[in-house]
Amino acid sequence: MRFHVLTLFPEMITDGLNTSIIGRAQNEKIIEVDAIDIRDYTRDKHRHVDDYPYGGGAGMVMQAAPICEAYSALCEKIGKKPRVIYMTPQGHVFNQDIAKELAQEEDLVLLCGHYEGVDERALELLNVESLSIGDYVLTGGELPAMVVIDAVSRMVPGTLTNEESADFESFEDNLLEYPQYTRPEIYENMTVPEVLLSGHHANIMKWRRQKSLERTLERRPDLLETANLDKNDIKYLNSLKNGIISNDK
Ligand code: SAM
Repeated sequence: MRFHVLTLFPEMITDGLNTSIIGRAQNEKIIEVDAIDIRDYTRDKHRHVDDYPYGGGAGMVMQAAPICEAYSALCEKIGKKPRVIYMTPQGHVFNQDIAKELAQEEDLVLLCGHYEGVDERALELLNVESLSIGDYVLTGGELPAMVVIDAVSRMVPGTLTNEESADFESFEDNLLEYPQYTRPEIYENMTVPEVLLSGHHANIMKWRRQKSLERTLERRPDLLETANLDKNDIKYLNSLKNGIISNDK
């Protein structure tokens, strides 16, 4: 999968994504991250990319022309018109389902705004879809684009090794993940739950499922409305809600 990031700060993208799992996925050509400098598509000698907003008000607005020209040049280079995602606090809030859906694309363009944002005409001309990474305002779209690239890349086959598998992670089945422990067995007088040391696979699976349900009920009950639950899960949740089972960690 190829990510094409339209940005005023390409080094933020390249530097931010060249380590660990995402760096390895790029080295192995499972994903490619192409940071395109919008400033390279300006036509004036001062390489202006922004101007004052019509109607007045604070801040600067990114001009339409360099963005549209950067996109056209990309389309010409790769011979197709990929989907464009504009990172904006006004977009749909990004989540794991959207990450999985975007991972089906061969090419994806991420447009990073800065200052007060982007001239609306560029967004219309590029027919953008808008994504937010949460209800707060950042200074630019580069960190949000990196968040999306990281989460989407993990869903591209080959990015994660077997050991790093995403199969039992938070949001699978719309539940949060169970608590994790590693060596030593006792730390600061705190012991690892006995069942995890038992080697009894079925009991471990049952314990993990129940802890996932407890956590989700406690921390993100909204997820349970669309969670993939069987009748045992529902029974367990009902007993938690009725206080029949003590919610010890
Ligand atoms: N004036 C804009 C508004 O009120 O919607 C906010 C502009 S913000 C200061 C600058 C850029 O940061 C945006 O164009 C967008 O690309 C990015 N950005 C800021 N917060 C974001 C968020 N929560 N999710 C995605 N992108 C965000």
